[in-house]
Amino acid sequence: MQKLAELYRGKAKTVYSTENPDLLVLEFRNDTSAMDGQRIEQLARKGMVNNKFNCFIMDKLETKKIPTQIKKLLSDNEVLVKKLDMIPVECVIRNRAAGSLVRRLGLEEGLELKPALFDLFLKNDAMHDPMVNESYCITFGWVSKEHLERMKELSYRVNDILGKLFDDAGFILVDFKLEFGLFEGEVVLGDEFSPDGCRLWDKKNLAKMDKDRFRQNLGNVIEAYEEVARRIGVKLD
Ligand code: 5GP
Repeated sequence: MQKLAELYRGKAKTVYSTENPDLLVLEFRNDTSAMDGQRIEQLARKGMVNNKFNCFIMDKLETKKIPTQIKKLLSDNEVLVKKLDMIPVECVIRNRAAGSLVRRLGLEEGLELKPALFDLFLKNDAMHDPMVNESYCITFGWVSKEHLERMKELSYRVNDILGKLFDDAGFILVDFKLEFGLFEGEVVLGDEFSPDGCRLWDKKNLAKMDKDRFRQNLGNVIEAYEEVARRIGVKLD
């Protein structure tokens, strides 16, 4: 499938139209950003690793009846996807306290959260993705009550599936962010699932194996992503 026009250039991916109006190509770039895009660096191999990581995870989720936008891996850095009408709200599941939750409530990092928390954030870089709740989503018309319920249900199901997958490979799935869209009226998982949008700690020593390595200048960012990929069974070459 040929890429036609560039439709949107995000912080880490570029979206292209194709000759089929229902299909898009996502290109994963090596750009890595933090602080709402104020800090951007190129990390060699990142586009390839995240593209293949994402396809592997989305395939696993599809086999467990989670609808995803993925159609086909096209190349190292490109994937063909269904064109979704994206919902401008990020869903975050938290199994352990980390990141913004620790900063907001002054909790100890790593505190177990049972049952897992479900947070919502409005996608808006200029406003630094503010935290919102279910009534905001309905009142401001970002998503219907019925679709929001489905997003929540799917987020918890993804947590069950991926929590086990990462646990089996020796990692703790600390938290993660999902984005959904609508395709023919159905809520479908979009965007990506990669170490850029989740926290994964090694069970042995609690080493951070995700984008916190970049955010906190811990080094060996892509080496950590590749190790996670290798241990869960992603084929990188
Ligand atoms: P926090 O609320 O602690 O900043 O993030 C919670 C989880 O969601 C983390 O795994 C983080 O990587 C992910 N996350 C939240 N917002 C974003 C975002 O805008 N981009 C990416 N890549 N991940 C996000």
